[in-house]
Amino acid sequence: MPMKSLVVACVLAAAGAASAQDQVVNLYSARHYATDEALYSGFTKATGIKINRVDSDDAGIMARLKAEGAASPADVILLVDAARLYRGEADGLFLPVRSKVLEDAIPANLRATPVADGGIPWFGLSTRARVVVYNKTKVNKDDVDTYEELGDPKNKGKVCIRSGSHPYNLSLFGAVMEHVGEQKAEAWLKGVVNNLARAPKGGDTDQIKAVAAGECDIAVTNSYYLARLMRSDKPEDKAVVDKVAVVFPNQQSWGTHMNIAGGAVARHTKNQVNAIKFLEYLASPEAQNYFANGNNEWPAAKGVDPGNPALKAMTGGQPFKSETIPIGAVGANTVKVQQMLDRVGFR
Ligand code: FE
Repeated sequence: MPMKSLVVACVLAAAGAASAQDQVVNLYSARHYATDEALYSGFTKATGIKINRVDSDDAGIMARLKAEGAASPADVILLVDAARLYRGEADGLFLPVRSKVLEDAIPANLRATPVADGGIPWFGLSTRARVVVYNKTKVNKDDVDTYEELGDPKNKGKVCIRSGSHPYNLSLFGAVMEHVGEQKAEAWLKGVVNNLARAPKGGDTDQIKAVAAGECDIAVTNSYYLARLMRSDKPEDKAVVDKVAVVFPNQQSWGTHMNIAGGAVARHTKNQVNAIKFLEYLASPEAQNYFANGNNEWPAAKGVDPGNPALKAMTGGQPFKSETIPIGAVGANTVKVQQMLDRVGFR
């Protein structure tokens, strides 16, 4: 008898949860910035919908979604980099959706390629540039102001870069492949490997520090890592920033490679309406400022000015030319890029 009443109690609890579910969004997030708290409480204040957040890194979130399958409580997923978002799409973790608000706010090149019925698997919500940092006393800007020159023999033994198969590089190389074609991209990658100052190791910040330390003269990094050093009060970070200069590559040709952090509706959401509502909120001007500035990124939504001092300083207050190829195509290219990396021995 006690057993039976326990079952009844569970069923009632489940029914209670179901009737309240329109007031909750279960968020799986690979972002972990203190400023995100304000972002989420802003959504709750505006809509009455609570956010239940699960934080992990990108790989952890994807593994968890796969393990949970159809039983997953996730409604919205936030991931970093088009290579990972593309992987999530290819693995069937996302529910493609239509939203006029999102389609109006986020430029077409910063969202996934639509599926057959017009649904969009994921949306970019902030952008970052993959830039070149160099030793300002030893390197001429003219020798490093294109991605192509990273593979030019004149830069032999000078380049530091993290692992070739890290998502940030898979995406950059996928973009280069989109611009110059497969054959030239592979030849270029071979050139980059020949120019390495050391075997790839560490993250983007480590590459910037290696330039300051004289271990290499040229490095590749996402813009926000440099912005973070520029905004740091630590003397050791200031010393690093003093030694390096930054260039936004390919201003005279196809523009600097831009990547995204973005969001998607979870494939097995039980609450598609609120999931879309939350993504729409993240694309609103107020949320875009929080979202982008929390990690020194640019807003993805049209017409939102970041007003971030480090980002402004990085370009001397000037606008720069960014590439306009579809980020969905960049993600799709990463599969071929990985095979190229294996062939040219880019670890
Ligand atoms: Fe990062």
